[in-house]
Formats: sequence, structure tokens, C-alpha cells
Amino acid sequence: MPSPTPGPTRSCWSADAIVLESFAELEEIELALLAVKAACHLPVVASMTFGSGPEGTRSIMGVSPEQLAQMAAGNGAAAVGGNCGAGPENFVKVAQQLRQASPLPVWIKANAGLPVLSAGKTTFPMGPADFVACVPALIAAGAAFVGGCCGTTPDHIPALRKLVGQPAPR
Ligand SMILES: [Zn+2]
Repeated sequence: MPSPTPGPTRSCWSADAIVLESFAELEEIELALLAVKAACHLPVVASMTFGSGPEGTRSIMGVSPEQLAQMAAGNGAAAVGGNCGAGPENFVKVAQQLRQASPLPVWIKANAGLPVLSAGKTTFPMGPADFVACVPALIAAGAAFVGGCCGTTPDHIPALRKLVGQPAPR
């Protein structure tokens, strides 16, 4: 079967960047990163879900932030990060470990806490105020990008924007 022949001149339509997120296995995100780098010159964010292991800092497949950061830096990612997971407090250690393991900017997009299934409906425990209360610690831990993943709403993101629009707490 003929394979496509993407090259460095191929456009990536009108995107400004590509985000690879919610990965659990290092080899999978490495392949995705290499595929994007082969197809275009857009900046690529490499983000995995961390929330497993004794400290909640591993992916469900056991990958550490250091492993991700070293792979991402070695393969030309523009930023490295964590998304989804067990909530913003849990990403403080992850952000520190990502920051220490490579020179790449750190991207953290946490869930609004762990989802709870109640009466057949999934809900997330953190409202906007609880969510943004954790963000200064993330920034102090080295996060250069902060956002929201599952359970964050149109009310969470303006609250986050308002917080980060103030002088940086670091
Ligand atoms: Zn999510």
C-alpha cells in the first residue's frame, strides 16, 4: 500500500500548534510526536495523563514524568505536560518533575478533580473557585501553561484567566 509522503513543507492547514494529550504509554506518544514532526513544522505539545502509582505521578502504564520529558525533549517537542488525571493538586509534583527533567516549558491541564458517578451521572467535585485555588501552586511548580481538562466548564476557564492575568505568583 503506498504511504503518504509528508515532508517538512506540507502544511498543517491553519493550526498554530498540535497537542498530543491523554497518552498512557511512552512508545505511543513518541510515535505520535515523530509522526507530527515528520508531517509539519508546527510546535507540538506532548502530554500524558498522570495519576497512578504510589504518589499519583505515573501514567496508568507506569510512565514517569521524567521519562516523558526526556523523550519529548529528545524528539523536538515544544512543550511537555500532563492532562486529565486526578485534579490540579495532584499535578504539582508532576509539574516539578517535568520541569526538572528537561528545559521544555511545562503544560498542565488538570481535571476538576476525580469524576464521581452518582445516579447514573458523572460529576466532578471542583467548582471554579476550588480549581483555581490550586493553580498558583502549579505555576510555582513550573507550569508555564495552565488549562482545564474533564469537568472544567465555561465557568472554570474565565476564573483561571482572571487568576493568571494577575501578577505571577512565582
Ligand atoms: Zn480529561
